Amino acid sequence: MPVHSEQKQYNVCPICSSAIKTWRVKRVGSDTYNLDLCGTCGYSFVNPRPSLQFLMDYYSSFGHGHVGAGNEAPDLKTVLAKEQNDPNSTVDAKRLIKTIKSLVKNHKSNRFLDVGCGYGFFSKEALNAGFDVVALELAKNERAIAKEITGLNPAATSFEEFECAPESLGVVFMSQILEHALDVNLWIKKSRDFLVNDGIIAIALPNYGSIFRMIMQENEPYICPPAHLNFFNPQSLSRLLENHGFKIEAVQWISRIPKRTFEKRLPRLVKPLLPVIDVASSASLKIVDALHLGMMINVYGRKLNA
Ligand SMILES: [Zn+2]
Repeated sequence: MPVHSEQKQYNVCPICSSAIKTWRVKRVGSDTYNLDLCGTCGYSFVNPRPSLQFLMDYYSSFGHGHVGAGNEAPDLKTVLAKEQNDPNSTVDAKRLIKTIKSLVKNHKSNRFLDVGCGYGFFSKEALNAGFDVVALELAKNERAIAKEITGLNPAATSFEEFECAPESLGVVFMSQILEHALDVNLWIKKSRDFLVNDGIIAIALPNYGSIFRMIMQENEPYICPPAHLNFFNPQSLSRLLENHGFKIEAVQWISRIPKRTFEKRLPRLVKPLLPVIDVASSASLKIVDALHLGMMINVYGRKLNA
């Protein structure tokens, strides 16, 4: 990564101010990223941070795709077929929105902000649950598909640029987005300012404390700078939320291995056994989640009265 003068370098952990040290140096193409680790809260992060210009160049050439996604832009039909064949976002959306709904007790605002709505599966579920949804999405193709799926018109706005009245939102929702943020403190502070008292923030992202990351270390697919800049475990993410006046209401661990991972690697003769293997693997993934070593975490916080 070319070092620019506007790059920010942290000398202590930006979450808990404790000492940090280099965890790994990761090479991606011709660029090298230094990944630091806080010995106290367990937050790992790209340090120094890339410059905003570097990130904008990166996203304009590669798109704001998710991990594992190719560079092609799928159409609505492809997105829906993929989801139907291997339900992923729709399953996550049901769990997340159901949990949020159970936590909402303040009826002063029914507004639900979906930051980085992607294809809109989460916004759709929130609409079904009766929320008044505002969606943001920077990627053009995702925005177009989200519009077809939800009927909403997602704003092409980053969360940094987004403005709304203070204490006007009931829910701030961030699925697979905070790991991309340049300044995580700014994002959570801003969320707090926008939320009503007792309002809910719900965050879903890859778990740095997962057994998969422990085994694969920096080769785990979610350790992917510069797309991902922040690697949270439940402790560091909870600490970040608590620092900004949130109380942690719930944490969930979710692991899922895409079907195609099995399908591709299995010889043809084994294919009839696929349903059996699928059940076995989902059973072992359930154990991993129960041990709090799951691949993804969902963390729910409530804004405490000032
Ligand atoms: Zn820390």
